[in-house]
Amino acid sequence: MSKVTTFYENVERSFDKAATYTRFPEGLLEQIKLCNSVYKMKFPVKTGGSDVKVIEAYRVQHSHHRMPTKGGIRYSIHVSQDEVMALAALMTYKCAIVDVPFGGAKGGIKISPRNTSPALLEKITRRYTAELIKKNFIGPGTDVPAPDYGTGEREMAWILDTYLTLKPSEVEGYGCVTGKPVSLNGIRGRTEATGRGVVYGLNEIVSYKDDMEALGLSTGLDGKRIVVQGLGNVGFHAANIITEYGAKVIGVAELEGAIYCEEGLNVKKLLKYRKTNGSIIGFPGSKEVKGENAGLEIDCDILIPAALESQITMKNAHKIKAKIIAEAANGPITPNAEEVLLKKGVMIIPDIYINAGGVTVSYFEWLKNLSHVRFGRMNKRFEEYTQSNMLDVIEKSTNKNISKRERSSVVRGASEIDLVNSGLEDTMIEAYQTIREAKRKNKITDLRTAAFYVSIVKIADAYGSMGIFP
Ligand code: NAD
Repeated sequence: MSKVTTFYENVERSFDKAATYTRFPEGLLEQIKLCNSVYKMKFPVKTGGSDVKVIEAYRVQHSHHRMPTKGGIRYSIHVSQDEVMALAALMTYKCAIVDVPFGGAKGGIKISPRNTSPALLEKITRRYTAELIKKNFIGPGTDVPAPDYGTGEREMAWILDTYLTLKPSEVEGYGCVTGKPVSLNGIRGRTEATGRGVVYGLNEIVSYKDDMEALGLSTGLDGKRIVVQGLGNVGFHAANIITEYGAKVIGVAELEGAIYCEEGLNVKKLLKYRKTNGSIIGFPGSKEVKGENAGLEIDCDILIPAALESQITMKNAHKIKAKIIAEAANGPITPNAEEVLLKKGVMIIPDIYINAGGVTVSYFEWLKNLSHVRFGRMNKRFEEYTQSNMLDVIEKSTNKNISKRERSSVVRGASEIDLVNSGLEDTMIEAYQTIREAKRKNKITDLRTAAFYVSIVKIADAYGSMGIFP
């Protein structure tokens, strides 16, 4: 029987495998691999009456080779030091792959957000932020949190408000956290960015004829049969946006079970249904798929695990029927299970690439906060005038009338959301091309190793430029 390894050990294992393709000195590889700072804290909160609860929380900064460090904050009863260290490490490699100039970090609070009242969640979030400030573990130039599992805009707003209260005159204070509401200097498109990035990445991946032929699939997302695990922030937006490309979401798995519908599920209606009924089971037109984690085993072209780590293990890897697995969640496949899947010919798109859309748009948000101006504000109208003048010249020189409709389809200055989405799409396409090319050039057999290889080379290059290593 193979030894059960921890999440952090799994990340190290992927790193070590990729490192064998490089020729960097051992000391440099060790420096890249290890966590630079680990902050474990305990603090009390009053839970009502005279009751006090001691809260366990973490912030891990994996790599200081680029500052600030960056990474989400997770609220879950399963949070542990090992988990936060693993997630922080993944952030470093992720940022390098998509050329986001940050080191990796992650935070976690060991609580169940579902079973904690909003008032208590606010109290805990504010105290956690104060603890981070005390130890200089938060700030626009030091460490910038964002949402992750169990957190969203609301928690980011509490973090921002606490930070600005305790550091009132910091001109760049709004850049202390990303994933904020737009009304608090967040950026349009951040909420759906991770899910949208998954779709942009997949759209590029399925465009290579030889890769798709090897899997017995046609090119393009149109008509692809998708299964999603976890209908939270990442899973919902990935599922919703992928249908705009003609794909069908034929299965969804949530905590309470899984459902299936060959004609395709309307995920917007499904999310509403779950909010009203507390479950996806019974959604009109769908069939329940029974069995523990059975949703993952539905026959499909692309499986998108978007819930938590270690979902595909030695227990169920042999039962997976998907041809492509896109790791929208962090670490959903254990290394031993990955070996089984790769032997079966499954294409695994690694988390450090495919879910990097969130941090990419967080980077855009941070830039917006530091520049104190919305993207598109300075140039939108100017672009429209230039385009309109050009059409006037064409009209005059060709003696042809350009209709109002034609004009309005051409004359359009870029707004913030246009720029965010095009920047995200470009990032995901370019990063995949780099990984695919590294895989080919170095004769690497899987995409995860190729993705780790790309990040190790980029981070080593940063250390090299500092003159720390030859
Ligand atoms: P979320 O809390 O919004 O949603 C997670 C969903 O998964 C919830 O609906 C939950 O009920 C469901 N879930 C939990 N366990 C499940 C199980 N065993 N089976 C089926 N469903 C289950 O979290 P999120 O922000 O969407 O994050 C999901 C994953 O994506 C995490 O691994 C996270 O680290 C990763 N991620 C998130 C972001 C981001 O921007 N939020 C960015 C990169 C990676």
